[in-house]
Amino acid sequence: MSPTQAPSASPIHVLSMGRLSPLFMPQLQAAFRIHVLTELTPEELAEVAPLVRGIAGSGESKVPADLMAQLPALELVSIMGVGYDGVDVAAAKAQQVMVTHTPNVLNDDVADLAIGLMLSASRQLPAADRYVRAGLWPAGAMPLARKMSGARLGIVGMGRIGQAIAQRALAFNMTVAYTARSGKPELPFAFVPSLLALAEASDFLVLITPGGAATRRLIDAPVLKALGPKGFLVNVARGSVVDELALIEALENGTIAGAGLDVFEDEPRVPDRLLALQKVVLTPHIGSATAATRQAMADLAFNNLAAHFAGQPVLTPVPECQP
Ligand code: NAP
Repeated sequence: MSPTQAPSASPIHVLSMGRLSPLFMPQLQAAFRIHVLTELTPEELAEVAPLVRGIAGSGESKVPADLMAQLPALELVSIMGVGYDGVDVAAAKAQQVMVTHTPNVLNDDVADLAIGLMLSASRQLPAADRYVRAGLWPAGAMPLARKMSGARLGIVGMGRIGQAIAQRALAFNMTVAYTARSGKPELPFAFVPSLLALAEASDFLVLITPGGAATRRLIDAPVLKALGPKGFLVNVARGSVVDELALIEALENGTIAGAGLDVFEDEPRVPDRLLALQKVVLTPHIGSATAATRQAMADLAFNNLAAHFAGQPVLTPVPECQP
């Protein structure tokens, strides 16, 4: 709570999983009685637990079954993010708890970042910046980079954001193919059911699936080998989708050409071996991190809570909670 803000008189108690975005938190504090989980002692949590009807979290929040089991009045978990792999949705459903997220409003930003990482990795933009700053230019030109326009793009996950990436890739005259759980005949892109076959046929492999058990370490040593020594991996999905050790080895051994990574297995920690690799471009999970998009996400996450507690249907339930 900001020092000037009086506690809301609302009778609706909401547990915030931490100090959430400053675009989200003040809206929550104005409308509900907010308890910040990370600032509660176990005794304080036990005291408010019977009153808590809502949970507010970010895409990185962990909302496990044992926490929800402590909250008998819980009705809704509202996540400010499209990925909700930290929420035990099966346990929520078993407890008749609705889960919402913030799809679509971040598609442009995440797709923009994916293209940015593809260009940054293949054209060596961060290395080029370092080259100029280090005063190396007068001594000679940088090594030649890899052309992106016209290359073959493989997208792993052709959902809302995957399609926004594909749309942008067309402006670069790229050939687009994809894998997903099922083919989408309405899309003008080739569906390749086998991830290995897709990797083999791609110059750039971009990951944009959800995280969680079903996609855990989908990208392993054989997939990286199939991508090959001229291939680039871009991960804007979740760190869990990639076997990070296998990726580090593939980069160190030249099994693949380079990578652009926005997400990591153990955020915010990034392995030293990755930090040491010049052919990797690293960003700190900023897929949706523009002011406009974060505001839209905060508003949607808040409006899901507001709608529910006004007795109206939520706006954007996760697929598992849709009627
Ligand atoms: P979406 O519309 O639900 O699309 C997900 C896609 O992944 C779908 O095409 C789906 O296949 C595919 N998929 C799911 N499980 C799969 C599996 N086991 N194997 C292969 N493909 C699988 O989701 P979205 O809105 O595009 O978001 C995708 C993810 O991006 C989020 O869940 C989040 O983890 C990540 N994300 C990251 C950032 C960031 O800051 N870096 C920001 C936003 C989102 P079907 O179409 O066949 O169902």
